Amino acid sequence: MGSGGMIVMDEDNCMVDIARFFLDFTVDESCGKCTPCREGTKRMLEILDRIAEGKGTMEDLDKLEKLAINIKETSLCGLGQTAPNPVLSTLKYFRDEYEAHVKEKRCPAGVCQSLLNYNITMDCKGCTKCARLCPVGAIEGKVKEIHIINQDKCSKCGACMEACTFHAIIRK
Ligand code: SF4
Ligand code: SF4
Ligand code: SF4
Repeated sequence: MGSGGMIVMDEDNCMVDIARFFLDFTVDESCGKCTPCREGTKRMLEILDRIAEGKGTMEDLDKLEKLAINIKETSLCGLGQTAPNPVLSTLKYFRDEYEAHVKEKRCPAGVCQSLLNYNITMDCKGCTKCARLCPVGAIEGKVKEIHIINQDKCSKCGACMEACTFHAIIRK
């Protein structure tokens, strides 16, 4: 992934999230001496954040690619010259994942928090535990009846899914 190292990942790893992780590191490490690395990596990170939040556009993908190539070619030292590699590799080999975030507002790996939805399945026993626990009052339902999550209110904290003893809450 960009630096000659090898990391084994599977379908539970989101490539947009991975690219963000590596870029976030280089944004922190950039010494600020040259503009492409100092400013360019920040702009790239902003675009990746937008994509992970489901606010990205297809134009953003092109912009991201152009910016990455530009930063690689014009940065002064190895840090800036290799910083865009994780973005370029993931864009090259996993472009479909980026496009799912942009076009379908969906994170195929189920990692990007803003794109996930919590839902209650038919396995719900109506114990009311989740409804009592939800910090924003997004869960409705009567005792011994299947509960429902109001998606407009849900802040996607995940507390209900962790708390349900019957594994009746799914995230996707
Ligand atoms: S490429 Fe090197 S010199 Fe330029 S800002 Fe980044 S770390 Fe500093
Ligand atoms: S905690 Fe689980 S079983 Fe209980 S009401 Fe919520 S979803 Fe249903
Ligand atoms: S994910 Fe959090 S906010 Fe959403 S319904 Fe569950 S407990 Fe409430």
